[in-house]
Amino acid sequence: MNKDYSFDTLAVRAGQQRSQFNEHSEALYLTSSFVFDSAAQAAARFSGEEPGNVYARFTNPTVTMLQERLAALEGAQGCIATASGMAAILAMIMALLKGGDHIVASRSIFGATQQLFGNILPKFGIETSFVDGGDPAAFRAAFRPNTRLVFIETPSNPLTEVLDISVLAQVAHAGGALLAVDNCFCTPALQRPLELGADLVIHSATKYLDGQGRVLGGAVCANSALTEEVFKFLRTAGPTLSPFNAWVILKGLETLKIRMQAQSANALELARWLEAQPRVARVFYPGLASHPQHALALRQQASGGAILSFEVAGGREAAWRVVDNRKLLSITANLGVTKTTITHPASTTHGRISAEARAASGITEGLLRIAVGLEAPADIQADLARGLA
Ligand SMILES: *Cc1c(COP(=O)(O)O)cnc(C)c1O
Repeated sequence: MNKDYSFDTLAVRAGQQRSQFNEHSEALYLTSSFVFDSAAQAAARFSGEEPGNVYARFTNPTVTMLQERLAALEGAQGCIATASGMAAILAMIMALLKGGDHIVASRSIFGATQQLFGNILPKFGIETSFVDGGDPAAFRAAFRPNTRLVFIETPSNPLTEVLDISVLAQVAHAGGALLAVDNCFCTPALQRPLELGADLVIHSATKYLDGQGRVLGGAVCANSALTEEVFKFLRTAGPTLSPFNAWVILKGLETLKIRMQAQSANALELARWLEAQPRVARVFYPGLASHPQHALALRQQASGGAILSFEVAGGREAAWRVVDNRKLLSITANLGVTKTTITHPASTTHGRISAEARAASGITEGLLRIAVGLEAPADIQADLARGLA
């Protein structure tokens, strides 16, 4: 499909392949393998000489449609879909790094990514230095001769710190490394890291790409040379996305932009309301003028996104009172869906790290994170007002 079509058009049409039945909506191909017309065709398909489907560990038409659509939305040459967001990160590492290599990562990345980099990869001789995401000089200082990858997430979770993708791409490239951006929080509807100089985009499709909390999925988007390497790993090792999940996410992409716009608008309205509440000490949201990287956020993102956090005066007791007095919002650590969720990071997502480390990264006992959904802003406010009274 013509890549010059706008994002909105690509989101509903890119990548579609119709079968002999000319279905209008994308078909779900529930088949693990494919048959060939002749011995010669089987040989050509296996060797890759003839493009086409072989076996669903590495080729399935529904998964291919999702990969092509997501690549078009990220402005990438290629995309490899995986079973989950963590499978995408692991596949990227296994495909592109080797024992003896070194990673520089921002400190406030997703908890499981921290565990993977900090506790599992060292068993295979890959070390990671974690640095302050807001300080490009800290990235530069952490570089070693064997540094191959810089890994970041922006905005950060839960404090919504915005990292400068263009500057960090320059830092990575000057040190001979690739820059990977976990684009889960913004999605390509709000932020396109490859256009800003990043080499790889990671997705947990489990979040906004599906957007309705139904399935797990992940993806790596990059140029063809890099995705070819990730494909070789996926083909052999099998962290593959199921066709059913691919179909759900493919249909989710069709409404991605209007969901992200509506959820961001709700988040901005909620952030402004929270800033005016006497019991709220501070609000963290890139769309607010009070946010330290507001100007960068406006340059790098189409809007502030749908995630915010705020600090309730009075510590854990006051924060838990807000959580326990809500009747509508979902108490969960998950995010990225149409239903608004509320999380107390210090006792859940960040509960396993030491109190000192938590305090150093600004995750206080009074902090609450809200992933804003599609409910009416007035209903969300009323739900929080009870516990803030
Ligand atoms: C959820 C999440 C992941 C992991 O994705 P899964 O699909 O749960 O494996 C990675 N990065 C970020 C930012 C996430 O929110």
